[in-house]
Amino acid sequence: MWHGGDLDLLLVDLPPGTERFATLCELVPDLHGVVMVTIPAAVSHLVVRKALTLAQEVLRVPLIGLVENMTAYVCPECNTPRPAVSPAARSRAGGAGARPRAF
Ligand SMILES: [Zn+2]
Repeated sequence: MWHGGDLDLLLVDLPPGTERFATLCELVPDLHGVVMVTIPAAVSHLVVRKALTLAQEVLRVPLIGLVENMTAYVCPECNTPRPAVSPAARSRAGGAGARPRAF
């Protein structure tokens, strides 16, 4: 249970997975939403998908946003955005499901 007083916003950065998320929901029962963060790799999408399922279907916490970090970088020589992760790494452990699907 949160006893730290009134807050406008509390951001908690959790490690990948679902175990600590359930604990957070017990500590902060009035959770208004979650922002999920992933990287462009199928395994990360899988982990986020599981956490999102837990959040929405079990804990009834809505999704506020979904962020994909490390999607691209800007080449310092030609200023062109390039993928930050190779296609092989992007699809590893996920094959065709490498891109996030609509949740
Ligand atoms: Zn370049």
